[in-house]
Amino acid sequence: MIFRHDQLSVELPAPNGPDANAAAAVQELLGGKFGEMSTLMNYTFQSFNFRGKAKFRPFYDLLANIATEEYSHIEAVSATINLLLTGTTPRQDRNQGAKTGGTVKDPAKKHKDAPTNPAPLKEAANFRNTSHFFNSSQQALPMDSMGRFWTGENVFCSGNLKLDLLHNFFLECGARAGKSRAYESTDDPCARAMIGYLLVRGGTHIVAYAKALEVLTGVPVGGLLPIPDVSNRKFPEARKLEEEQGLHLVQFHQSKDFTQIAKIWNGPHPEDGKPLVVKDEMPPGFPWPDLDPEPQLVSPSDIDPAMIKYYSDKLG
Ligand code: MN
Ligand code: MN
Repeated sequence: MIFRHDQLSVELPAPNGPDANAAAAVQELLGGKFGEMSTLMNYTFQSFNFRGKAKFRPFYDLLANIATEEYSHIEAVSATINLLLTGTTPRQDRNQGAKTGGTVKDPAKKHKDAPTNPAPLKEAANFRNTSHFFNSSQQALPMDSMGRFWTGENVFCSGNLKLDLLHNFFLECGARAGKSRAYESTDDPCARAMIGYLLVRGGTHIVAYAKALEVLTGVPVGGLLPIPDVSNRKFPEARKLEEEQGLHLVQFHQSKDFTQIAKIWNGPHPEDGKPLVVKDEMPPGFPWPDLDPEPQLVSPSDIDPAMIKYYSDKLG
C-alpha cells in the first residue's frame, strides 16, 4: 500500500518564463526509455515479483524503498513540465473576454497577449510537442521528448537478483546520461533545479545498486563510478544539494517496513568517501505549484447556447 503525501520532494523556483520546448525536452525525463516512469515501474514490478524475501530481505527492502522514492520523481518532473508550459499560449476565456495569462514572474517574458486574439493556440502548432496542446490542456504526459508514449516494454524483470541489480545499475547510469543532456539543453532555473535534484538522488540509486552488487558478489562495482564520467559537482544545482544537505549520502525510509536497507547502504561514498546514512524519516516536502486553468485549451468556448439548445431539441 502507498501513503501519498501531497508534497514535492524538491523546491522548484519559478521558470524564467513560458518555454514549451524546454517542457518537451523535460518530457524525456518523465516518459523516455530511461525516464522516471521507467525507473519507477522497473523497481516496482521487480519488488512485486520478488521471491525469497526471507533470504534476501536487505535487497528487497532497498529495491522497494527506491521504487517508492521514484514516485516522487515522476511528481517533480510533471510539476516542472506544467510550470514550463504555463503561459505558452495566451490565457483567455471567450465567454468572459480575454485575459492576459500565465503564472509568469517576468512580465517582459509574458506571451504577447491579444485581447481579441482570434486564434489563441496559433503558436501551439509550431511548438516542439504539439500533444501538450492538442491531446491535453497544456500539461505533462506519459511520453518522451519525441511524443512517444511510455511503454511497459521498458520494464525488465528477470527474477534473477544479480541480473536485475545489474540492469538497475545500468538503467540508473543511462538515466544519469539523459539527465545531464536535458540539463545542457535548457538554461531555465526551474528545469535545472529539478534536474540537479534528480542527478543527486539518481546518484544515490547508482551507488545503492553498486553496493548491492558488491554485497551479493564481492565485485567492487563502485570503482566504475561516475558513469558518465562527470561528477555531480559540475552541476551547480546538484553541488548545492550535496554540499549543503549531504543529499547524496542519504537513503530516506519511504516506509517503516523497509528496515534492512542499512545492511547494504553503509560505508563510504565511492566518490567522496563520506559515510552513507539511512534516515528513519521521509525527505523534506515542498508545496506543489497551484496553477490556474487554461480556458483557451477548451475550444471553442463561445458556442451560442441558443444554437446548442436548438440542436439538442432536434436530436430529442
Ligand atoms: Mn529517479
Ligand atoms: Mn533512480
